[in-house]
Amino acid sequence: MNSVAIVTGGSRGIGRATSLAAAKRGYKVVVGYASNKAAADEVVAAVEASNGKAIAVKCDVGIEADIVHLFKEADKFGKLGALVNNAGVVDKTARVDQMSAERLARMMNINVVGSILCAREAVKRMSTAHGGEGGVIVNLSSVAATLGSPGLYVDYAASKGAIDTFTVGLAREVSSEGIRVNAIRPGLIDTDIHASGGEPDRAQKLAHTVPMKRVGTADEIANAVIWLMSDEASYVTGTIFDVSGGR
Ligand code: NAP
Repeated sequence: MNSVAIVTGGSRGIGRATSLAAAKRGYKVVVGYASNKAAADEVVAAVEASNGKAIAVKCDVGIEADIVHLFKEADKFGKLGALVNNAGVVDKTARVDQMSAERLARMMNINVVGSILCAREAVKRMSTAHGGEGGVIVNLSSVAATLGSPGLYVDYAASKGAIDTFTVGLAREVSSEGIRVNAIRPGLIDTDIHASGGEPDRAQKLAHTVPMKRVGTADEIANAVIWLMSDEASYVTGTIFDVSGGR
């Protein structure tokens, strides 16, 4: 394995765990981040300390020019073998009757448009129809896509519903061109995303609602992402895989 894996939002939380796991599997990792350069640099240093290879590239997936830049930097690093569309945001807890157009545009732009634009760039490089050698794409959805998140963030849930549909459609579009496309639906995972929604202890507070009675770890999601990226999943495409403790 000497190919490149891009992990958007690869600097913290699930993305960080995925970046480290991909490096362990021999990928050269491109760690995307939006603004926290120190966190991205720390992931690169951790990879290098284990004799892996990684670079950090600033890329707000809400900005098309950033995405194009991210993939150009990845091209300089090596041949692209994997894309993990991990970057995603929530917003403050709100009912739909309180949501502004600006909030909705930001949410959809980052979570949905950003993921599709990254996939566009990946397909251009991986597809055998474009002279590529194939590859894998893993999208981060959420169990929110099935629960709807009423009273919390229906907009976020809807953005992840779009990711599920996109996963199935793109998988079927490119499955004969050497590219597998799958998604993970994490449940309640212990990361900083809950604080960015204004409720740092949200996951722990809801742990009792999970059939396994606990929140999940970023590593438990990364393990599933890495399996989908691996040849062990060579006949798996268009699948949406719940990793949610039964939730
Ligand atoms: P997190 O801890 O909040 O980390 C977010 C990561 O994404 C950071 O590296 C951050 O970089 C980056 N990021 C934020 N906005 C970005 C943007 N506009 N463009 C590019 N990168 C951006 O998030 P997480 O909990 O690990 O979530 C990762 C993914 O899993 C998301 O798609 C999320 O929806 C999904 N998910 C999470 C949970 C959960 O319970 N945690 C559950 C279901 C699904 P900076 O540090 O530079 O801002």
